[in-house]
Amino acid sequence: MLPFARLTIIGLGLIGSSVARAVRAQMPLVRITGHDADRAVRERTVALGICDDVTDTVGAAVMDADLVILCVPVGAMGAVAAEFAADLPCDAIVSDVGSCKQSVAEALSAVLPDAIIIPAHPVAGTEKSGPDAGFATLFKGRWCILTPPDNAPEAAVERLRIFWQRLGADVEIMDARHHDMVLAVTSHLPHLIAYTIVGTADDLEGVTQSEVIKYSAGGFRDFTRIAASDPVMWRDVFLSNKDAVLEMLQRFSEDLSVLQRAIRYDKGDELEALFARTRNIRRSIVEQGQDDDAPDFGRKH
Ligand code: NAP
Repeated sequence: MLPFARLTIIGLGLIGSSVARAVRAQMPLVRITGHDADRAVRERTVALGICDDVTDTVGAAVMDADLVILCVPVGAMGAVAAEFAADLPCDAIVSDVGSCKQSVAEALSAVLPDAIIIPAHPVAGTEKSGPDAGFATLFKGRWCILTPPDNAPEAAVERLRIFWQRLGADVEIMDARHHDMVLAVTSHLPHLIAYTIVGTADDLEGVTQSEVIKYSAGGFRDFTRIAASDPVMWRDVFLSNKDAVLEMLQRFSEDLSVLQRAIRYDKGDELEALFARTRNIRRSIVEQGQDDDAPDFGRKH
């Protein structure tokens, strides 16, 4: 049994096009309608053939949907939902894939007060953007976190859970505030650190840019992958998850000061103890299948 028969995807970039491809692969009988604000993206999606229909307006896209998934930057969610509110069928479920959950839930419920809204976040992605960057197996073996509000009908949550499971994801239900705190540590702070390190290296005067690029295999290049992520998406993530990110940043700054002192006062034991602890975390991530064990991320040498 299909959890949904008519899916609408709004925003046909990396995540939206991956959802379309995964649905095509796993639930080929589901009818997929897509819409993107960008005409070039709409045309490219038609050429890729990953949707049954691509509409020029967002209202036309949702008109007969039983599931609408918003795959636009988190700062655009409220405005997009307001645009299609009048055309949304009353029994449709509205969901999203945004990287922050509390601000999106607030934005959606403000403009769709009577709709069934079940926010979601597939914890899967790459540093690439656009419809060509998507792929059908993106969600396989990754977590998808649902953050249903207290009044969400259980049957609707269950249908969405089945939907994501059919795409290969493991589904977890979480409170939106807790989600934002967890993701601030596991995703948002690492991105902020990567943006900082790459920016700092770029600003250094005593080291030329060509040297930074030439010797990047020393560790720098691993940060550059994260720092190459979509600027609009990440601008919105930091502005939308401000409180949790600022709290984690405060803790990070304090821990960085501790490390600074340990280096200054030759406290090798302290450094070694921390580095041993962090190595174990890497081991656990590999053991739980969240990354590959290949050395140097499996790069060919
Ligand atoms: P993306 O590749 O840049 O795709 C987003 C698409 O949405 C773009 O084609 C964009 O068009 C379009 N768009 C923007 N505003 C719109 C609007 N008002 N109406 C219709 N379409 C609009 O970004 P993405 O990586 O797929 O991210 C989409 C969402 O997924 C974000 O909320 C992000 O937080 C979440 N997410 C991302 C990742 C990841 O690793 N990338 C992982 C999990 C969740 P323009 O380019 O013309 O603006």
